[in-house]
Amino acid sequence: MSCSDDPTGTRATATTGGSVRRDQVTVALLGATGSIGTQTLDVVAAEPDRFRVTALGAGSSVDALAAQARRIRPEVVAIADADLAAELAAAVPAGTEVLAGPDALAEAALAGDVVVNGVVGFAGLPVTLAALGAGRRLALANKESLIAAGPLVRRVRSTPGAELVPVDSEHAAVHQCLRANDRAERLSRIVLTASGGPFRGRSRAELEHVTIDDALAHPTWSMGPKITVDSSTLMNKGLEVIEAHELFDVDLDHIEVVVHPQSIVHSMVEFTDGSTIAQLSLPDMRLPIGYALAFPDRIATPFGRIDWAHLSRLDFEPPDLDAFPCLGLAYDASRTGDTAPAWLNAANEVAVAAFLDGTIDWIRIPEVLERVLSRHDGSTADSVDAVVDADRRARHVARLEIERLP
Ligand code: NAD
Ligand code: MG
Repeated sequence: MSCSDDPTGTRATATTGGSVRRDQVTVALLGATGSIGTQTLDVVAAEPDRFRVTALGAGSSVDALAAQARRIRPEVVAIADADLAAELAAAVPAGTEVLAGPDALAEAALAGDVVVNGVVGFAGLPVTLAALGAGRRLALANKESLIAAGPLVRRVRSTPGAELVPVDSEHAAVHQCLRANDRAERLSRIVLTASGGPFRGRSRAELEHVTIDDALAHPTWSMGPKITVDSSTLMNKGLEVIEAHELFDVDLDHIEVVVHPQSIVHSMVEFTDGSTIAQLSLPDMRLPIGYALAFPDRIATPFGRIDWAHLSRLDFEPPDLDAFPCLGLAYDASRTGDTAPAWLNAANEVAVAAFLDGTIDWIRIPEVLERVLSRHDGSTADSVDAVVDADRRARHVARLEIERLP
């Protein structure tokens, strides 16, 4: 039985022992130590009668994960780095099941009615596939899995009971706006909003020598380093265009991006009669996280409310595709299809890591992506092995292209 069988979002659980109340929704939280992970714990802590965390998983931050386990007392903890298994086991409460290794997070996902995927990067793919394949609700923050493996995710979404509710704020907004009309043919466009990041308004020349600290200083959102850099290049919005295309099955020609520096309008949907529905709230990820946990209900806790007396203006402007070419590259990769989005995602992960470790300048990130995409081999994304292989190959090509940069 999955959450979607019970529209109230409350159900008895068969998967866990005596400490779970029959009316609680159990939550498996992967990527627990990150920005999405810790904010998910805030949401659960705000509504403890309703939600209970039964599994926690992380990549390698063993101390933070163990501290969470001692506080939250899940049934299962999982760490992707197998070498840290013994250290984790020694630091968690007695009786906690410890899983370690490449499949550990996907296995831990099965301990929840709702699976929150807050892992960063392509490493989140096994959790996405395991959650949907087991007929669970997937509260998806990990956009990279959807972008790299769109055709596979599409397939596994049809598993009975499986349900994908986006956590990404723009897509949570679109998900809410779409509830204003139930006829897909009456949708005319999705408008994704972008804050514009820390470099909004700068020309290409002015972006030549920006630093790591400049790129990590996001004006409206506090997030993990990878997505913060993605926001500075507009790659995040590019990935989100592909994410919207995959999630809502809407053609790319009907997905647009508008820059909205205040990050209050989280996205919009326009219908054929010209009516536009928008979702507005303060920029706080705990709202979309709570939405994905409670859907089709809502949590009772507002994490901030708009003060209309002080919200004096909402600005909108077109994105600058010359200064921020990553957005256009994402449309191109999605139009090419097959493993092109997987290549784009992999190349981006490599390029962002190279920027963050000081190997390449920020301005080189789109250049690396362009060079890698021009070498895309046209392979199809028809199996997990094919996608994993495409990811590996694109990373290899990206490293070569970085070495070749002048
Ligand atoms: P983060 O860097 O703060 O946290 C990442 C988490 O993933 C950590 O718990 C880490 O232990 C885990 N992890 C890292 N490598 C791993 C691996 N190889 N295997 C398993 N686990 C691994 O990142 P974040 O900002 O929380 O972002 C997580 C995801 O959510 C990303 O896909 C991001 O695009 C998306 N997202 C984040 C926000 C946000 O506000 N932070 C908003 C929208 C979408
Ligand atoms: Mg977003």
